[in-house]
Amino acid sequence: MKFLSILLLLSSIISCDSTRSITPTQDVSKQETQRANTPIIKSDTENTTIKRDNVAATQKAKNVIFLIGDGMGIGQITAGTYMSDNKSSLERFPVVGLHKPYSSDNLVTDSAAAATSFACGVKTFNHAIGVDKDSLPVQSILEECEAKGYTTGLVATSTIVHATPASFIAHNVYRRNYEEIALDLLKTDVDYLVGGGKRFFDSRELDDRNLIKEFEAKGYTVFDQLEDFIDLTPAIDKADKFIYFSANSDPIPVASGRDYFIDASMSGINFLDSKAANTTTDGFFIMCEASQIDWGGHANDSEYIISEFQEFDQLIHKVMDWAKKDGETLVVVTADHETGGYTIQPGSTQDSLVTAFTTTKHSGDFIPVFAYGPGSEMFGGIYENTDIYFKMRSALGFEEVKK
Ligand code: MG
Ligand code: ZN
Repeated sequence: MKFLSILLLLSSIISCDSTRSITPTQDVSKQETQRANTPIIKSDTENTTIKRDNVAATQKAKNVIFLIGDGMGIGQITAGTYMSDNKSSLERFPVVGLHKPYSSDNLVTDSAAAATSFACGVKTFNHAIGVDKDSLPVQSILEECEAKGYTTGLVATSTIVHATPASFIAHNVYRRNYEEIALDLLKTDVDYLVGGGKRFFDSRELDDRNLIKEFEAKGYTVFDQLEDFIDLTPAIDKADKFIYFSANSDPIPVASGRDYFIDASMSGINFLDSKAANTTTDGFFIMCEASQIDWGGHANDSEYIISEFQEFDQLIHKVMDWAKKDGETLVVVTADHETGGYTIQPGSTQDSLVTAFTTTKHSGDFIPVFAYGPGSEMFGGIYENTDIYFKMRSALGFEEVKK
């Protein structure tokens, strides 16, 4: 017994020491904690043995604005808030919950599997885009909205064929099949697309097709980064369907001068809202992604994370103002996973943070969810990432589907 307590004391001293010696690129103090004879991921049925009170929405939402900060965990939110005079638009949300972000084959998800869970309501394998764990395509909430007559849109600060936006509109077993994903986009009737990756549409290796010409033939108005987004308002007003390629490949970081994200998201919301007035459903679904909070995490770069978070925070602020005025819109903000194992260290003040990273990859932590508007009451509590799909559908008043 005495020996055990000495051992415990020793190990706690050792772990304290290793915490103190954190450096940004080191994977620190890894300790394996394992329950006897349990696999890393339990089956779906086992995972649903805890009965949650999945109440249906009491009030129907006309529109859904879904905002994803890729790689935005508690550390990113905390650091971003402190570095913004201890204020964040996330504090305006009345309902906060947590989701469990793991995928079907890994406790630490990637963005593809995670976005597929939000978009399609299934746990799937890392790298999967809009397909289930048996590689079968699953209709996304955006595609269902489209089929039901809603107007739909996607905005990202990555390429538009990148994992997060792609999972709402494409179906592929491998996230890096960008040119195949671009072809999937062409097959849909999505009304509004903004993001990088123009080259996957007009400088293709897979075939000689110019998908931009094909989009135009389908009635889309298409612009690219040679135009400043802010100058395009008259063109958007006139467009039937609208695409803006913000970069040939990846868009640049906001700190390097990227400036379309907030305008493109707000223009998209207004565009889809006014187009929806002519439809039977009257509503829209849009997903806007702050893609590069994740890239700051992978780079173990605090300033990159904070500047990307601050831009996202400004967008959330504008979206909240819009939704408050509208009164019929559900706003959901979350992340797919955390990136970097990013934490705030002893010695920090609100003006001067000492931060550390435990990895250059994703971490497996639970992820906060913020909700406002009709149906938002469903988003409190702890639940699977797939439940976000079911809750959004319930808010829209769609008939229940079997989990
Ligand atoms: Mg992403
Ligand atoms: Zn990532």
